[in-house]
Amino acid sequence: MDDLRTQLFYTQKNGYDLIGPEEHVAADNYCRGYIEFLNDSRTEREAVVNAIRLAEAAGFVPFVPGMALAPGMKVYSSNRGKALMLAVIGQRSLSDGTVIAGAHIDSPRLDLKQIPLYETDELCYLRTHYYGGIKKYQWVTIPLELHGVVALKSGELVDVRLGREPGDPRFVITDLLPHLAQDQMKKTMAEGITGEGLNIIIGSVPYADEGKDRVKLAVLSVLNDMYGIKEEDFLSAELTAVPAFDACEIGLDRSMIGGYGHDDRVCAYAELKAILDVENPERTCICILADKEEIGSEGVSGMQSQAFDTFMADLCAAQGVDVRRCFEKSFCLSADVTAAYDPLYADVYEMTNGSKFNYGMGICKFTGARGKSGTSDASAEVVAYLRRIFDKAGVIWQLSEMGKVDKGGGGTIAKFMANRNIDTIDAGVPVMSMHAPFELVAKLDCYMTYKGVLAAYSDK
Ligand code: MN
Ligand code: MN
Repeated sequence: MDDLRTQLFYTQKNGYDLIGPEEHVAADNYCRGYIEFLNDSRTEREAVVNAIRLAEAAGFVPFVPGMALAPGMKVYSSNRGKALMLAVIGQRSLSDGTVIAGAHIDSPRLDLKQIPLYETDELCYLRTHYYGGIKKYQWVTIPLELHGVVALKSGELVDVRLGREPGDPRFVITDLLPHLAQDQMKKTMAEGITGEGLNIIIGSVPYADEGKDRVKLAVLSVLNDMYGIKEEDFLSAELTAVPAFDACEIGLDRSMIGGYGHDDRVCAYAELKAILDVENPERTCICILADKEEIGSEGVSGMQSQAFDTFMADLCAAQGVDVRRCFEKSFCLSADVTAAYDPLYADVYEMTNGSKFNYGMGICKFTGARGKSGTSDASAEVVAYLRRIFDKAGVIWQLSEMGKVDKGGGGTIAKFMANRNIDTIDAGVPVMSMHAPFELVAKLDCYMTYKGVLAAYSDK
């Protein structure tokens, strides 16, 4: 009878019961590289800079429309420094389609308002407008760094990166002491901390004169010394506050990684590393690092932008191929994180269909909410294809759904890829505390996501 069970039942195993010591070491080494990348990539702009640096070291060159593309060539194209597309030209024609992996490099954060600076009661603050889906109470009383650019009227771009280096000052949003929080504690978690309340303290020493707003003047004077900017320059700035935590190993067994921005730099790094490592692919491999996913993939640097279609059409033109023919034969892994089952909040998960730490890359046939609304829902044939290539390549993976039916939901770039007539499925790393300032992933799942993308890129 046991044989019949073995034959007929679908059973899943913890990844650590399936890998040997060699793969354990490989996963650890891979994650060291990821932690370094994550610590140095606090915004989409910084992720693009770091990805280009790694790509150029691996032989990638900037793509110029019209250039001849021989098999094996490695090219990249930056979209305004906020999104990146990379390609390794395959042996076969682009008319046979491409293998695409698409992740996003923007993460939830606190953007500064366009007129952010104000003084009250001899303290100086920065007003913010949050970006992406956050639980606001999580963003107070944690150290923050400031990153981004100030675009001067002259056209010059000033880079800001403050709080990252040891010895840099950092910033914080205060919260009410429990002793006086009787009224606040009666509010709901959604109302206890408000969007307009997320103001960052930036200074307290008054400028040595007799005028008004002396602390604000002192702060502006420091900013002017450091960056040559004045208050009006904030109008054309993209400055953002992100958590000032370094990513680090979590657990006595060091099996997990805590850090800011796993969603979705953990998948972005996986596909970046995979496209750097793929050798002589049969079909052309494409790696997308997209912006603006957290606010609906809108805008010129989001996945709904024509920038991707233009890049692909330019590649196809080099081989005299109609990009529509290329799209209809292409396959896309929408590499985004999924919700890992969290025993502390077991209520919202349906265990059998949830994804678990250490069970490998999480494949989501569909995302969306309320009866699969807003998802592209990959076909059974696409899932069968993944079963085939992952099992052949020894990728540990699990099929997953975010949570219980009608408990909520979410979306990814998948539907925007599928709308282009590209077979697309979601696949990525399960995360706990998603969208929190400090998210948690399991190393084995990170490594298996890299292996999964590499398996797709390498498929003959
Ligand atoms: Mn995501
Ligand atoms: Mn997200």
